[in-house]
Amino acid sequence: MEAPFFDMKGDSYVCQGCVGNETLYQEIERDGEINDCSYCNRNDLHCVTLHSLARRVAPVYEQLVSEVEHEPEFDDDSDTVEWVQRGESPTQIISDMIESSEFSVAEDIVEYLSSVSSSDDLARGLYEASNDVFEVRVPENQNLRYA
Ligand SMILES: [Zn+2]
Repeated sequence: MEAPFFDMKGDSYVCQGCVGNETLYQEIERDGEINDCSYCNRNDLHCVTLHSLARRVAPVYEQLVSEVEHEPEFDDDSDTVEWVQRGESPTQIISDMIESSEFSVAEDIVEYLSSVSSSDDLARGLYEASNDVFEVRVPENQNLRYA
């Protein structure tokens, strides 16, 4: 039998109530342990560790995210054109993906994934909190993302 994906050893716990996405919610309900949530401070809910939730979300995020196209930005006062990228930060995107009401859950996920991917330049760029150049293309249906 396969070991449960989520582990229960760690400092921070995230409860099912802090994760609005239906698929993740049900996984936390199924595999989580009753604990006190470190984020919303509610007690006796199904919880998983922040780190295991991060590892659950990471491959989905890495598969779906891409950099936005550069677009021209015209300066009225001069003839110069600047090419800029107007996207979102990893934290915003992960917050949307897990549909969390607590923004700090996404912040901690990004911080953790940034720290564990530090030997891999490409992956680290994906978790650079100040890199607001990303977008999620497909799929629109939130729950298909985790299949
Ligand atoms: Zn919570």
